[in-house]
Order: sequence, then structure tokens, then C-alpha cells
Amino acid sequence: MKNIIISLSTAMILITGSCDKKEVADLVILNGKVLTIDKVKPAAEAIAMKGEIIIAVGSTAEISGYVKEGITKVIDAGGRLVIPGFNDAHVHFGPLDPDYIELRYTTDPTVFTEKVRAQVEKSTPGQLIRGGHWEHEMFTDKKWPSKDLIDKVSPENPVLLSRADGHSVLVNSYVLKASGITKNTPDPFGGEIQKDPVTGEPTGIIKENAMDLIRTGEKNTERTADQEAERIWQGYLLALKDARELGVTSIQIPGSADFEAYEKLQNEGQLTSRIDIGEPLTGDTVILNKYLLRIKKYPKEGNWIRFGYLKAFIDGTIGSGTALMFEPFADNPATSGLAMMPYEDFERMVVAADKYGFQIGVHAIGDKGNNWTLNAYEKAMSVNGKRDSRHRDEHTQTLLLSDIPRFSKLGAIASMQPTHCISDKKFYEKRIGSERSKGAYAWKSLAESGANMAFGTDYPVEPLNPMEGLYASVTRKDRLGEEGEGWFPDEKISMEKAIEYYTLGAAYAQFMEERKGMIKQGYLADIVITDKDLLTIPENEIMKTRVDYTITGGKIVYTSGK
Ligand SMILES: [Zn+2]
Repeated sequence: MKNIIISLSTAMILITGSCDKKEVADLVILNGKVLTIDKVKPAAEAIAMKGEIIIAVGSTAEISGYVKEGITKVIDAGGRLVIPGFNDAHVHFGPLDPDYIELRYTTDPTVFTEKVRAQVEKSTPGQLIRGGHWEHEMFTDKKWPSKDLIDKVSPENPVLLSRADGHSVLVNSYVLKASGITKNTPDPFGGEIQKDPVTGEPTGIIKENAMDLIRTGEKNTERTADQEAERIWQGYLLALKDARELGVTSIQIPGSADFEAYEKLQNEGQLTSRIDIGEPLTGDTVILNKYLLRIKKYPKEGNWIRFGYLKAFIDGTIGSGTALMFEPFADNPATSGLAMMPYEDFERMVVAADKYGFQIGVHAIGDKGNNWTLNAYEKAMSVNGKRDSRHRDEHTQTLLLSDIPRFSKLGAIASMQPTHCISDKKFYEKRIGSERSKGAYAWKSLAESGANMAFGTDYPVEPLNPMEGLYASVTRKDRLGEEGEGWFPDEKISMEKAIEYYTLGAAYAQFMEERKGMIKQGYLADIVITDKDLLTIPENEIMKTRVDYTITGGKIVYTSGK
């Protein structure tokens, strides 16, 4: 009897599913080349959406049945590629500053002088001048910039110009003076005040923990609180506009950000990307209890503003020569990098936060930094027991080859940013030699080991545009498209895989793979239509690919008009 009931109800579901009385969709996409990232049904032509949710995926003929004139909005994809919305698993997202001096891709350091001069002219004395994203390895002479470039044009203003990785900053003499940094100031633990080898004077380059010594001595800019709040609000709107134009429908912010600001954006109907926000890792149970309250307010079950993971830094970067390595740097044998804290302290924090059930994400760049991170996760598992913790290794840049299989064993996630590879590869072998570079950005080896991977950008260290990451993943070549097979070409992955790590992989990293990251019935309707077919175009077209439609939660939040 029981069996009959079950088969009857199954039959009824089948009948309802195939009869003509279909639900009416709010929005459909027809005539697309849909890459669903759903292994069960990898390809389709059309999608029906109702409210925030995908209600059907199928052929154009099937999905046309969900269209009702006057109610359903129809997008004719005209054969274009349709993929899940991009989910940036590591992005330092926040309000943009309209006065920020952009130095990305600068090859001539005298540009610093000109841009700072121009900004000083627009400013009042004492007003802080900010800028960055420079990368001295891109300079023709590859030398670290110094305060001499900016001192003469900024005698009365503090200037802070961050390196692209944010782990070093160039300051002018105004700031050095305000900070009390002189030739006699010792390097703090985990930091460096770069000094001229001849004179011993600070060069203006301050690295890692030494940045804590910086006091800008800025004089308050004459803005009312309202003006300042408005400026920040506009900054958020600018940032969200960038994200939706690039097809980024989900954003995972490492470390803390302003939950309330995003709530306000949501309440005013301005939030067009879903946001995860974390907090700094701690072992302090008073603070961990506070985090528990916060996670209640922004729970994992939410779809828009959610509490993410607890973030820590174990080391610095390869570019700044501060990544924690087992062996000294090839180009500077005096150092093997900087640990941001002793291992024992780190492990204690990881074990304590894991016990509370938090997800943890650790910035790890050097082979030893990554090894420590995995060791701490392993320790947490042995002390607190195995659970679905999905602890994250943020960047996973340089691995001992023997550490690669540990990711799948520990259920840890390799959260990686493919563009770092093509930005850093020009100095990687110089810094650590080619043998150790075999474990750098080892996407293919990680994938083959069964590791879960999530892709992102680390914006603003790298540009927010996901197309650059996709290009990096499949080419491992610089942005100009050099000759040859790319850097350690065995680690290249396919375009499908790269898109998967940028969508489903990133959703898995935030415990959302059951409702986001695929174009599948019942999933959140976060979808992107691109103007070129990423799956078939030549390499040099990938970064030129633009987004024609961005749909977040079933709403068209951006269209190019094409
Ligand atoms: Zn980062």
C-alpha cells in the first residue's frame, strides 16, 4: 500500500511538471548558450525566474511556456553565453574615494610626482593625500620608489601611497616626521622601515607591522559630518555600480566591514550584490561571544548580508619579500619572510575559534605560512573533532608540493585569486627560484588532489573584473599576451573550471552551494550574459569580454543596452 502511494504521488509530480499549466515567470532568458555549472544538466538554452528564484531551466521551447504577455519580461540572449553570476570570494570591497590617486599599471615612477602635485593643488595644507596600487616590479628600473619622488611637491601635506598588495606603503617626509620615524627607529616585530644602505635614512617605504607606527599628522578636512556621510554613501554607490557592471553578484569581504551601511543600502533598494562580511580572528572568548550575536543577526541562512568568516594574517607577500618561507629568499638570503605572530599564538586562536563553530580564513602566501595554516586547521580538527568547518586558506600562493593533498583531507578551501599569478609571475622566480615556484598558484594540482577551490580577485590589489581572472586561469600569461605556453603551463585550467571556481566554488566556500552558484531550478537567480562566448573565443579576446546583462535575485541590475 505504501509503495502505491509513493508511486502515485511521483506520477502526479511528473504530470504537473509536464502539463501545460505552467507557472508564470517574472523574467525569462531565451535562446541562450547556458553554461549551468550543474553537473546533472550542464547545458541549456533558456531560464525562467520568479521572484528571486530560478523556477525552470530548459530549451527555449520549454521555457517559452512560462511566458505570459504583459507579465513576463523576456530577454532574448540571441545565442550569447549565459552563466551564473560571478561570486568574488576575496574582495576588499567598500566605498570608493573620489580623490584617491590611482597608480595601477604605472611603469614610470615620475608619474607619482605629477599625480601627487595635481592632488596637492586641489587640497588644503595638512589634508591627507592618499593613493596606491603601484607595483615597483612594473617600473622600468624595478627599484622601490622613495620619498624623493614626492617630497618636493608635498611639503605641507601628508602623503600615503600603498603598494598594490597593501603590505607596503610609500610615505613622504611629512608623514615620517609626524610619526617620529628616524634613522634610529628600530624595525618592529613583523615589520620593516626601509633604510638607505648608504645614509641609513628612512627611504619612505614602510612594510607590514611597521605601518602601525604611521601617524599622518593630517589636519581635518573642512567637511561637515553630513558632507562626509554623503561622500561615503556616494562611494558605496560607485563601488556597487562597478560590481554590477562587471557581473559580480556576490561579494565576500575578508575581515570586517560596515554591516549597517550595507543594511541601509539594502533598505533603500540600492544593494545589487550579495555581501558576506567577517571579523578579525581572535581567541578571546568575550569577543567570540560578541561575534555569535552578530552571526545571529546576519545568519548563514540569509541570502543578502551574511556573517562570513574570521580572518587572520600569518605572513606578508612575495612582492614585498615578507611571505613566510621555509628557506631564505633567493634574491635576499638574509631573510625568509615575516611571521605576523608566533605559531603557538596563531594555533591557539584557530583552535579557540574553531571550537565556537566559526569558519576561519587565513591569509597565507609563503610555503611556511601555508604549512602553518594547514597545521593549525589540522590541530583544531584533532582537538575539537571533525566537522564541516570549510576553513579557508586565503591566497594559497606558494605550497610545498607535499601540502597539496592536505586540503581535501582537512576539508580546507583554497581561496585563490588567479590574477595574482600573472601579476606576480614576473618576480616570483627571482624571489624564490623556480623549484619553489612549482608550488605557486597550483590550480590544476589542487583540483586533481580533490581540493575545493574558490576564485576571487583580492580587489583593489587586483582589478575587480572577473574576465582578468578567467584569462589568468586559462593562460598563465601576462596581460599583454606573451608568446609561449604561459608560466608553469601544467597548472592551467579550463575555462569551464575557472568559471566554476568563480561561481559554485565560491558559493561552497560560503556554505551556499545548495542555493547559489549554479543555474538550476530552485537556485537564486543570479545570472550574467556576456557579449562574447568565453568558451570558444581566442585568449586575447577574454579580457575584452564585457557583460551585457547582470541579474541579481531575479532582477536586471545592469544592462549594456545590447
Ligand atoms: Zn586580501
